[in-house]
Amino acid sequence: MIPELIANARKIVIKIGSNTLADQDGRINIAFLEELAAQVTTLIKDGKQIVIVSSGAQVAGLSIMGKWARKRDLHYRQALCAVGQVELMGAWTRAFGKNGQHIAQILLTRDDFSDPIRTLNMRNTLFTLVDEGIIPIINENDTVSVEEIKIGDNDTLAAQSAILWSADLLILFSDIDGLYNKNPKEYPDAELLREVWDIDEARKHITIGATNSFGTGGIATKIDAAQRIQSYGIATILAHGGKPRVLEALAAGTQPGTAFLIN
Ligand code: ADP
Repeated sequence: MIPELIANARKIVIKIGSNTLADQDGRINIAFLEELAAQVTTLIKDGKQIVIVSSGAQVAGLSIMGKWARKRDLHYRQALCAVGQVELMGAWTRAFGKNGQHIAQILLTRDDFSDPIRTLNMRNTLFTLVDEGIIPIINENDTVSVEEIKIGDNDTLAAQSAILWSADLLILFSDIDGLYNKNPKEYPDAELLREVWDIDEARKHITIGATNSFGTGGIATKIDAAQRIQSYGIATILAHGGKPRVLEALAAGTQPGTAFLIN
């Protein structure tokens, strides 16, 4: 099903989680960014349109301001994201630049999605950028989003963006092959669910384990995101972003994942 989903989708939102963006030293994984940029460029040349939702501002910030690692104070965390966001976008600019592609940064907050004028502006900007062949890279605007007004995780932001842009497909990249019946990090015998048609039904058969060091939402927000957009007729693929040439492998059917499908 995954190859068909990718083949049939024209408008694809790709969300990359912090765990996928960080390397083992907790820095931005440049090799990953470059490989993904090359694959996205191929998809665009094949006639597809791509919007990226990228986490990683905090990871990038920590690689510069390592001495802030232990600061829990909200203002420091927001300052860290402000430092890191520039670094992150610099890394994306270079990665896509090598493939002759331009990118654009869009920073959003929850309020943006509840205000019809802002929503319209966002939609128009997204359509304009994509029509002009520029790849929008969306992230939450952590500098203005204090805890109470946060979207909170980029799975939800990716789902909202997919709905706003009327995407055909959302691809969530994490550090696991997909949704399992239990946390694969804790249980080596966990089984991968390859196709999910009825998300409420699937919820009854899985247990949700802990999340990772950099992750914020965990698997729960990915299931919620898939369910939210399913009602808009948008399918979701959850897959391991760290696998070699993963977009191509998914399209070829050589890399497994979980497909949340539309009836
Ligand atoms: P990301 O930063 O990529 O968005 P998160 O760390 O927030 O990812 O969430 C993914 C993590 O959720 C996985 O690394 C996995 O250990 C954990 N997890 C817990 N329960 C499950 C489950 N039933 N199936 C898959 N992953 C699970």
